[in-house]
Amino acid sequence: AGKTDGKGQYRFFDPALYEQIKSRTRLKQHLIDAIERHQLQLHYQPRVATHSGQLCSMEALVRWMHPEQGIIPPLDFIPLAESSGLISRIGELVITQACAQLAQWRAQGLPLVPISVNVSPKQFLQGGIDRHLAAQLTEHQLPANLIEVEITESAMLGEHESILSQLSGLRELGVKLHVDDFGTGYSSLSQLQKLKMDVLKVDKAFTYQLGLSAEGRVFFQAIVSMAHALGMSVVAEGVETADQWRILDELGCNEVQGYFIARPMPAPDMANWMRQAQAGQPAQTVA
Ligand code: C2E
Ligand code: MG
Ligand code: MG
Ligand code: MG
Repeated sequence: AGKTDGKGQYRFFDPALYEQIKSRTRLKQHLIDAIERHQLQLHYQPRVATHSGQLCSMEALVRWMHPEQGIIPPLDFIPLAESSGLISRIGELVITQACAQLAQWRAQGLPLVPISVNVSPKQFLQGGIDRHLAAQLTEHQLPANLIEVEITESAMLGEHESILSQLSGLRELGVKLHVDDFGTGYSSLSQLQKLKMDVLKVDKAFTYQLGLSAEGRVFFQAIVSMAHALGMSVVAEGVETADQWRILDELGCNEVQGYFIARPMPAPDMANWMRQAQAGQPAQTVA
């Protein structure tokens, strides 16, 4: 690693560090090109009511459709986007694409089902999300309840003034706020209630424990009871088996999402999935 003289300047040339910076710079430029060439695209994963299996919403998950490397998952480029100042552009692009997609589906006669988008806390720090969303909703004449926002539970939530003001800006628009990956961060339920979060999305690690141990079930049950007592609803992510789905139904978890219901899919496949669901053929039903 490089040494500094205390004023933040490098005292000597460090080839390893230099290579690291060069490759980061290159990757950042690739990502900028990808944005401009419309290679960042949303896939959609249904979220259904636990008891009825009815479609409630779908999560937009961004993918880099790379011409040579194929589909690059978000965890391979979102962290770089966050640290290099590109995350706001990606966040805006995601909202723009989601709203355009809703308008397109509406024009095709499909039912209007909300899309939930992921917004990283870093993006909130940079600001402007609420204004961009409001502009897109107006442009496509969409009601605000068709977009939901998922924010990863993090130490930052609730501490920064700019995050707080944007959360309330979104709430005033009528956007539902979801806490993503609940259980992996540090926030308490009372803190989240103060922030007026609407939905807890429990991390898939806890769903995974459900069928495996009594403790797993007890833990989930406690989250559901407390969330409900505080007026929040609960979504389980990462539902991969019929057994997990059945237990979640018993626990009163409101909604489920996961590979067992459907994998994230490109927009045309999502449209087909909706048409089938509309025709009364849910992909799965609770056993
Ligand atoms: P997340 O928001 O918690 O999204 C859930 C992740 O779990 C997705 O991974 C999804 O494909 C995956 N998943 C869904 N069902 C199952 C299941 O049954 N089993 C397992 N093992 N996994 C399942 P993905 O698409 O790779 O996204 C990873 C993370 O990247 C997301 O976690 C989210 O934090 C972030 N991300 C995705 N899209 C965006 C975006 O547009 N903006 C931002 N800022 N972050 C995004
Ligand atoms: Mg999410
Ligand atoms: Mg999650
Ligand atoms: Mg996650």
